[in-house]
Parts: sequence; structure tokens; C-alpha cells
Amino acid sequence: MSQNILFLAHVEESGDTLPKVAYEVLGAALDTVAQLGGKLTVGLVGESVQNAANSVAAIGARIIAASGADFAHPRYASDAAALEAICHEASPQIVIAPATSRFLRVLPALAHRLKGSVDTHITSLDVLDGVLTAKRWFYRQRLEAAIQRQGRPWILALDSGCHAAWAGTPAKTDVQTISVSLPAEANRTTFMGVRAPITGAQTIRPDAKLLFVAGAGWCKKQADGQTHLPEAESLILDFLRQSGASLGGSKSLVDQSGDNQAVLGFMSHLNQVGQTGATPRHPKGLSTCCHGEEPHVVGWRFINERRAINLDPNCGWARGKADVLYVADAFRVLAKLNSLLTARPQERRRDRDCVNYKH
Ligand SMILES: Cc1cc2nc3c(=O)[nH]c(=O)nc-3n(C[C@H](O)[C@H](O)[C@H](O)COP(=O)(O)OP(=O)(O)OC[C@H]3O[C@@H](n4cnc5c(N)ncnc54)[C@H](O)[C@@H]3O)c2cc1C
Repeated sequence: MSQNILFLAHVEESGDTLPKVAYEVLGAALDTVAQLGGKLTVGLVGESVQNAANSVAAIGARIIAASGADFAHPRYASDAAALEAICHEASPQIVIAPATSRFLRVLPALAHRLKGSVDTHITSLDVLDGVLTAKRWFYRQRLEAAIQRQGRPWILALDSGCHAAWAGTPAKTDVQTISVSLPAEANRTTFMGVRAPITGAQTIRPDAKLLFVAGAGWCKKQADGQTHLPEAESLILDFLRQSGASLGGSKSLVDQSGDNQAVLGFMSHLNQVGQTGATPRHPKGLSTCCHGEEPHVVGWRFINERRAINLDPNCGWARGKADVLYVADAFRVLAKLNSLLTARPQERRRDRDCVNYKH
């Protein structure tokens, strides 16, 4: 049976563009249409959606939008109403959307309103023997499930970094704007601003090529019997600035901040990688002064190439958890790395994955 497949996205709050993850998920939606057959419709939400619509015009799909000031910011009541109205207009069997924080808060409600099903944190979509199959990980990325469902509409929220981003030439396109009737209580919550922890927000970069992870060893007494916190801070920040890497931390290290111990000032719980932390996706990872214990390494599941620096040749990384282990003093290795990065030709430094860290 031919399927109506709806791709949902919201524009970024900072403007009228779509986030990168939306193009990745659009790529997955187009692949699904190609395998399953059917028709793709695009549904957009945001204050102003024309630019976003133009950016996906090349796929030639019908574009439906709920737009205007009511949809400028994430808000459960107005977002749920907007997505519900778009779905009523498109009558999809399958809804595919990026697993952004804005959508994750509202997609389960959408499924409830439509009497459908929802699955979140999907990492891939395939059609097996003609049946749509979604995959996701459980138990901190140790078990992978393949999910098939009878319930329709089936809403699928796809994680970032799991599919190549769709790219096409922007063109002027028509958008069918639908009116969404918001009850008075949908406007009861007003958006006042975003408050983010300064540290984590500025050092976590999901699109960086490298994940740099600092462990508790950076704050421990070194060979001279002293801690070297100021030196550790400046070595790490210099490396992050020069390489454009994203910063991760081990649980031991980030917990020390909470215990008011002397710590790296820029490290917060948002940086924690592992079983009880994040599972980021980066092509490469470099772990420093961190032991490489299982609960920590669980967070490295989706790091393709893993390297670690540890003084201890018997650390966890040495037991098959890293591709390369440098048995060395991370203070010295990082100082050398930073001097090599500084010596790079100017053009190559401009080419790097660039970001400015404030501290
Ligand atoms: C249920 C559960 C969930 C957990 N979840 C997580 C999680 O999500 N994330 C996580 O990280 N941990 C997690 N843990 C904790 C985990 O088991 C480890 O205790 C923790 O990761 C250890 O942190 P660390 O390696 O930074 O510190 P340590 O174990 O103290 O290791 C410090 C390392 O630094 C090295 N070192 C010191 N100085 C230098 C130097 N100059 N150069 C090079 N190396 C040096 C030392 O050799 C040592 O190996 C969890 C534990 C449990 C029980």
C-alpha cells in the first residue's frame, strides 16, 4: 500500500533556517520513501518558515506550515497543536522528525492525540521484506533493537549524526500555511529567554571532528607530589581553542566540581561521557588522564577512532578499548601538541573546525 510519509521540522529559534539534524533526517525520510514507495510531505513549524521551505524546495514535495509568532519558541501547548494540525492536513501513516529537544518534548503528545505510536532516538530506518524497521539502542548503547509496528500513524524521532545530510539547491517555493486554533491556555506559558550553564554550553560541539575527554588524572598529584590545576586548565583550553574539539569529561572529574573540590573551572556535568553521561558521535576521540573503565567507555560507542593517553600501561584503554594508547604524561603530550598546532601554517589553522571559547 502506498504510504503518506510526513517529514516534520522546526526552524531554529535564532532565525529562519533549519538545524543540520533536519537535513540529516530529511535524507533518511527520502531513503525511506525510495524503499517503501509513497509520497513525502514536508511539515514546518516556526515564526517564519519561507527560507527553510526554499532550502528543501529541490525535493519537490508539498510543504505545509504552521507559522507566526505563536510558534517562534518551543512551547508544549502551541507546538503540540501545530504538529497535530499539520498531521490532520497531511494524513500520514509515517511521521519522521529530528530528535531535537523541542520535538522530543512534544512528539509523544502528538502520538497520543493522533492515537498513533511513537519511537524516539531512532538511529536508522530500513525496509525489510517490505516492512519499515526502525533501529535504536537500549541499556546505554549496549543492545540494539529493530522495531516494527502495526500502529499508525507511527511517529519516529531520529537522532543526529546517523544519516548523511540531504543537500540541494535552494529555490523559491510555495508554502501552504494552515491556521492553527490555539485555545487561550496554549498561550499561558510565555518564553522569557534561555539560561544555559556557561561552561558546558560553550565547550560541547556535536559537529566537531574530535571529542577530547579529560579525566580525573588532570587534578591529581603528579610526579612532583603537587597538583597542577592552572597548567591543566590552560593546556586543555589552548588545545580546544586550536583544534576546535568538543570537550567531554569522566564522571570522576565532573563530580569533583559538584563536591566543591579544586577542579577545572570550565567542566560541568553536561560534559560527562559514559553510562550515566552522554554518548556523543564524533569521527575521532582522544581521552586523557582517564582510566578507561567500562562505565566511562560506554560513552565512546559511536566514536570511530579512539586514542588515549595514560601514564598507566595497565589502564582500561590497554584492554582493547582504544585503537592507540600512548603510555605517556598527558601534560607533556598536550604541551607538545599545542606547540605543533601553533606552528601550523596560517591557512591550515583557518581551515580548522573553528570556534572561540570564552573563559
Ligand atoms: C553505575 C555507574 C555509572 C557510571 N557512569 C559513568 C559515566 O557515565 N562516565 C564516567 O566517566 N564514569 C562513570 N562511572 C565511573 C567509572 O566507573 C570511573 O570511576 C570513572 O570513569 C573514573 O574516572 P577517571 O578515569 O577520570 O578517574 P581515575 O579512575 O581516577 O583515573 C585517573 C587516571 O588518570 C591517569 N593519570 C594521572 N595523571 C596522568 C598524567 N599526567 N598523564 C596521563 N595519565 C594520567 C591515571 O593513571 C589514572 O588512570 C560510573 C560508575 C558506575 C558504578
